[in-house]
Amino acid sequence: MAWGDIVARGRSFAKRVPVGLGSVVVAEEQRRLVIAHYNEITLKLGNRGAFTARLLDNMRQALAPLPSGAVRSQDGRVTVVPGSADPEEICRRLAQVPGIANLSVATVCEPDMDSLLAEVERMTDGWQPAGSFRVRVRRAWKGFALESPEIGARVGAVLADRTGAPVNLGRPDEVVYVHVVRDAIYLSLGRVQGCGGLPVGTGGRALLLLSGGIDSPVAGLRMMRRGCRVDAVHFHSVPYLDRSSMRKARRLAAVLARGQSATRLHMVAFGEVQSEVVRKVPRPLRVLMYRRLMVKIACRLANQGKAAALISGESLGQVASQTMANLAVIEQAAELPLYRPLLGMDKLEITDYAREADTYDISIEPDQDCCTLFVPRHPATRAALEDVLRAEASLDVEALIDAAVEASEYEYLKSDWEQQAAGLPEAAGREPVEAGA
Ligand code: ATP
Ligand code: MG
Repeated sequence: MAWGDIVARGRSFAKRVPVGLGSVVVAEEQRRLVIAHYNEITLKLGNRGAFTARLLDNMRQALAPLPSGAVRSQDGRVTVVPGSADPEEICRRLAQVPGIANLSVATVCEPDMDSLLAEVERMTDGWQPAGSFRVRVRRAWKGFALESPEIGARVGAVLADRTGAPVNLGRPDEVVYVHVVRDAIYLSLGRVQGCGGLPVGTGGRALLLLSGGIDSPVAGLRMMRRGCRVDAVHFHSVPYLDRSSMRKARRLAAVLARGQSATRLHMVAFGEVQSEVVRKVPRPLRVLMYRRLMVKIACRLANQGKAAALISGESLGQVASQTMANLAVIEQAAELPLYRPLLGMDKLEITDYAREADTYDISIEPDQDCCTLFVPRHPATRAALEDVLRAEASLDVEALIDAAVEASEYEYLKSDWEQQAAGLPEAAGREPVEAGA
């Protein structure tokens, strides 16, 4: 199920709220709860507490701009009290927080069978399964009078009776969830898929080479899903080109910040390095030389920021600079491990992921990318390392790196959600107005 799908399902569930009865509506809202389920964290036997604590922190951070209530760990789940925030919006945001496998919006019933069945009846007032259904019961409080199969059978009977829909235990079209805890029963319909993986902050820190393209933001998001805190570095060619790629990098870094409190983004002016390469390096080797120098500068910045690895958005064979031979030449320039999480993904998969994560629309905006500056029409597809190293020896590499690092700047970008809540101009893709401008 796509991330947006949950929301549609939640809405059909919400329809049963009686219209025009203000007090009832308020009461309904108070009886709602968002439940976040995790998956991989469960495997972390000894460290589960630390992983869960990190997840709770990250969830609170993602929800900070919303007027939502308490976020608590309960029976291997995390519950969020919606407060006056829209539960669907809470789900939409939490679906992008690494570590959460899926989410549901539950109605909270009294911990007895009559209340549960009354709620199930009310649910069918505004809802009809799209085909078959099944009921799944989790009885976290073993003191409850009935066992799971019996609870499921009784809820299923009411649903079948009132909607006429068939039960299908194997491949149901809809799943109704019942979760029994000590002082309540949670009833929910369908689940929104989250991005899964592990909470950011549990897997070290890495520095992402972030262009304004489609691939590199996805590479960063995939590593965040493995628990990595992701800093970013963007190379631009201002003043040879305009600032459009910097703007995009900022906006992309802000989307990455949805899953981590803020993204540290380094800006490196690369135009001087490129013009030196143009002066000294044969045309077919220039793209690889740019990449090698980016990697070397990034390693220096990574060391300063205590990042233990680099991340790039390369995918095997996607373009001339990403053949196996050329990837090896690029990697040889790196003093730190260079992670390429998209290596085995095709463009369609990457694009789908970018759409779901809201980076796609930013990435496809036109910009003046530094890689379009001084780029040969026919780059080498199988550059020999000796040729590249010989060409590199004609450059004063250390001086170029020193100058680029020296002139680089970094900033911390809050998530676009937080920027919007604070009314900051970057949220709309505009440059902040500089002092004196
Ligand atoms: P992307 O869509 O991420 O730009 P791409 O398929 O266009 O990737 P290239 O442009 O060859 O591929 O870049 C390969 C990788 O090099 C990028 O994924 C990114 O990690 C890094 N890179 C390229 N240009 C820049 C840049 N201007 N700043 C930072 N990193 C860059
Ligand atoms: Mg690119």
